[in-house]
Amino acid sequence: MSRTVYVNDSFLPEENATVSIFDRGFLFADGVYEVTAVLDSKLVDFAGHVTRLERSLNELKMELPISSEELLNVHRELIKRNNLEEGAIYLQITRGAADRDFAFPKDTKQTIVLFTQAKPLSAPKSGIRIISAPDIRWGRRDIKTVQLLAPSLTKMIAKAEGKDDAWMVEDGFVTEGTSCNAYIVTKEGKIITRDLSTSILHGITRAAILKLAAEMDMEIEERAFTIKEAQQAAEAFVTAATAFVNPVIEIDGVELSGGAPGPVVTRLSQLYIEESRKAAM
Ligand code: PLP
Repeated sequence: MSRTVYVNDSFLPEENATVSIFDRGFLFADGVYEVTAVLDSKLVDFAGHVTRLERSLNELKMELPISSEELLNVHRELIKRNNLEEGAIYLQITRGAADRDFAFPKDTKQTIVLFTQAKPLSAPKSGIRIISAPDIRWGRRDIKTVQLLAPSLTKMIAKAEGKDDAWMVEDGFVTEGTSCNAYIVTKEGKIITRDLSTSILHGITRAAILKLAAEMDMEIEERAFTIKEAQQAAEAFVTAATAFVNPVIEIDGVELSGGAPGPVVTRLSQLYIEESRKAAM
């Protein structure tokens, strides 16, 4: 069934939606994106995603082309028009179309595109098997740009080995998953995840999980860890807007928590879904 999508002020059937071949998103990956989860036809952490979007745009000397209220309305309208109960809304904003030149063009109209993706998010997860791989991305991973070839290639290395994903490693330490933040849980129940910097994306789900864990009086340490430390951990997991909390049950061939989701990750996952359902708007 054809979706209704949003392109530059219009809602239209996906087969009629077009963007210029001169769009700088296409030519230079000169654009940013956000992915917001939808649960019970409501948006999860919309405010967090808009705040990060504005930051990403600002870092690339762009602005939000419509108000955050209009953006919320477009998200809600897409949920309605596509009868979306569970899944995600993808949003992309680029600098717009201009004749090809490395210098930023002046006074172009930015391109804004949104579409829905239906997928089950809240079903129980059996866990993923991951490998480690070198982090070959650029140095500003805190900006959510659409230049995703490096993580895409890295994911394909994992797939070629029959695994689900890769944790990327730089200078001996895990940065994050190809499209998720990475965590380990020590035998004492402490959660360890990399501290925020330009080396990783500042996950909206990460912020929510760390808040939840703190409310549960769990100990949290924000610091880099190695693959070896991860392989010796009691449990491990990843978070992302469309993965929620996903257990990691194998790292480079070493099984964790008996090859099944462990108790801490299972509890965090349930709580995250409960809290997200309550707060979704
Ligand atoms: N890290 C990377 C590299 C990502 O691409 C993503 C999501 O796309 C995340 C982390 C998780 O961020 P969020 O929880 O905001 O979806």
